[in-house]
Amino acid sequence: MTDYIMNTYNRKDIAFKRGEGVYLWDADDKQYLDGTCGLAVTGLGHSHPEISEVIYNQSKTLIHTTNAFVIEQQGLLAERLCQLSGMQKAFFCNSGAEAVETSIKIARKFGNDQKINKPRIVVMSNSFHGRTLGALTATGNLEAHTGFDPLLEGFIRVPFNDIKSIKNKASKYNSIVAILVESVQGEGGIVIPDKDYLSDLRKICDDHNWLLMIDEVQSGMCRTGRWFAYQHSPIIPDVITIAKALGNGIPIGACLAKGQASEVLTPGTHGSTFGGNFLSTSVALKVLDIMRDKHICNHVKKMGDYFEEQLINKFNKHKSVREIRCKGLMIGIQLNEECTNLVKEALKLGLVINVTKKKIIRLLPPLIIKKDHVDEIVNKLEILLK
Ligand code: PLP
Repeated sequence: MTDYIMNTYNRKDIAFKRGEGVYLWDADDKQYLDGTCGLAVTGLGHSHPEISEVIYNQSKTLIHTTNAFVIEQQGLLAERLCQLSGMQKAFFCNSGAEAVETSIKIARKFGNDQKINKPRIVVMSNSFHGRTLGALTATGNLEAHTGFDPLLEGFIRVPFNDIKSIKNKASKYNSIVAILVESVQGEGGIVIPDKDYLSDLRKICDDHNWLLMIDEVQSGMCRTGRWFAYQHSPIIPDVITIAKALGNGIPIGACLAKGQASEVLTPGTHGSTFGGNFLSTSVALKVLDIMRDKHICNHVKKMGDYFEEQLINKFNKHKSVREIRCKGLMIGIQLNEECTNLVKEALKLGLVINVTKKKIIRLLPPLIIKKDHVDEIVNKLEILLK
């Protein structure tokens, strides 16, 4: 079945045939609880009837024109996202990596416009920003870099959650123009920084006229109990990247910006053929409506607290468990040993999980999850960890 597909994924030998809510079914009609929702994408669940209706109706009306014409839904979506985030302008694309590329271009243009020679962006170790060359260079996973030299110039890497090392770099380089950071490191294993970290970064950026660019591709769209995870801190970034759950499975990404950062891109400097078309922006508007009307952020907060409580009750003293880290429904269970094989074992039990960094079980369950689903996941994890 996959002979003609490039070998970029270690695929499991399962083909899901349908999904509804928090569940998936395979060709034998075996049911699986989706504990990752396609890596933080289908937050509102599979086959959401209202989203299906929007896809159907919009596809019958108009799917695509070029961005050389006005796309009304795109304007409405930009306005809604700016109101939710405190940003002023949006650029639409199709994925998280493209949103990150946009942020990198904004930072470089922001620097070049000020005649800064070879502007540099501070990025973090253990970070993940995507697979395109700019996003890959920004990514702090050296395994992902292997074989792709030469990567891009103009990035300075510092340890995550370490303000001192950024201050050090600030005193050493006068060409820094921005910091790019995840508010919670997702792929890196659900690493949550200190409470004041983002506020401290904001202050450093203000002091040096750098842009604070926050990658919310995984942590955004209610995933942590706020629309965006940086909203747990009393700050507003200059640039935000989002994607994943914004389209509940329909590809869409966005780079949002405020102030000077929102003005640097001008006609001809950036673009996307598909970005922000009628279909994806109509769907994203519906996603925002549902998230607002169903109070999804509050629900995530409650379910996240419940999930954490259950995990701590069951596994805090477990001999295989080193640490449990939760921010809303971003959940990392760090084990003492490598556990990649648990993904297959979980599938046998009818549960989809992810393992990142070889030793960390990562759960990104649907945002609409209920207590009995949480119990089902925790019970299955208990069997797995035996
Ligand atoms: N940024 C973050 C924080 C991510 O977690 C990801 C993907 O996991 C990306 C960027 C890249 O997104 P995409 O796979 O849609 O290109």
